[in-house]
Amino acid sequence: MAGHLFDHRKLGRALDLFDTDPLIGAGLPYWLPGGAAIRHALEEYVRELERKAGYQHVYSPVLGKRELYEISGHWEHYRDGMYPPMTVSPAADGPGSGGEDAAGQVVLRPSLCPHHAVMYRSRAHSYRELPLRMAELGGMYRAELSGVLGGLTRARSIQLNDAHIFCTVDQVRDEAAAALRMIREAYRSLGIEPARYRLSLAGPSAKYVGSQQMWDEAAGVLRDVLHRAGVAYEEEAGEAAFYGPKIDVQVADSAEREASLSTVQVDFYQPERFGLEYTGPDGGKHRPVMVHRSVIGSLERAVAHLIDVHGGAFPPWIAPVQLVVLPVADAQRLPAEALVQAAIEQGLRAEMSADGSLGARIRAHRLVPYQAVIGAAEAQAGEVSVRLRDGRKLPSLRTADGVSQITRHVAAHSPELWPAAPGESRG
Ligand SMILES: [Zn+2]
Repeated sequence: MAGHLFDHRKLGRALDLFDTDPLIGAGLPYWLPGGAAIRHALEEYVRELERKAGYQHVYSPVLGKRELYEISGHWEHYRDGMYPPMTVSPAADGPGSGGEDAAGQVVLRPSLCPHHAVMYRSRAHSYRELPLRMAELGGMYRAELSGVLGGLTRARSIQLNDAHIFCTVDQVRDEAAAALRMIREAYRSLGIEPARYRLSLAGPSAKYVGSQQMWDEAAGVLRDVLHRAGVAYEEEAGEAAFYGPKIDVQVADSAEREASLSTVQVDFYQPERFGLEYTGPDGGKHRPVMVHRSVIGSLERAVAHLIDVHGGAFPPWIAPVQLVVLPVADAQRLPAEALVQAAIEQGLRAEMSADGSLGARIRAHRLVPYQAVIGAAEAQAGEVSVRLRDGRKLPSLRTADGVSQITRHVAAHSPELWPAAPGESRG
């Protein structure tokens, strides 16, 4: 895989996927329609994957009181990565709160965990409800220095595919293992591979909280999960979250810089800090464990990596435009428009390209997975002849059948351009 990666910063702009503007600010990329289409496809995919795996989706605000992060430990241990607090009017927080003191301050959240912990705490829970899997595709903010900002990978505003699983100690292993399986399944669909798996452990720094026993137990669980998954991994001290060890799925960019895309973390600390409980079969109160996990990481980093790996030739289900319809002459414009409309109604991202020579139009759309040329013969017969991005041609089909075959393949979230014919090698 290494050696032929693209630079997402150049290509993302050239392909009109995203950009930045000094007036909006460094590290604050915006998504153009093509990039937004990719992001939307990823969001839908991951929500569906999570729904099938028993996750429930929630929304929570991107702001929280400073006190929330004092309790979670972020304020003390992760403050360098946080924006300065904003002071809101004392009245907004009720009588008695001073505008200048911590009670009157809110911060842009550096992570979603504290909100989810409070949401869990807001309702009583029985052991029968566990594991309770709470997922959110939500915004978080990181005060990166301007010197390290670049494209989508070091953004100050981040959309995270996040989830927190509240479970019993006995359930942690299976939940962490299932999360790792989900990550691997998503990578297959995305056509990407990890550079390596890393077990990130605490280092000598004072930022790591909690007891040694807590760290050993959590690391033991994750080691076991990696062993059972049969993947090679490296242990690295000093890369853990401040509250617990984690499995990091590392990817590399064109300059061979590594970044963590996906993660599975075991946390005994935040449940303690927030006083989380569930009622056990014995009728007594017990403390759940939190498994933090992200399948595709942040949408920013995921899309950056997809551009690095695929250039603009994305797997069909991700492609900004999936089907381009090319009428040979003006006389076929109407059937071409009808085909585009039929494809859009089936859920495909389709458009017509009618201006210029046919050869030039095919070249201009060389990254689009499916190209349908409509000549006089096709128009007459109500057929479509589809050419794949790699030059292969599908047999001519009735228009409706052509659209439904493409729709079916796209819905399968395959990294392949087209299903392999029986007996054909998949390489
Ligand atoms: Zn978390």
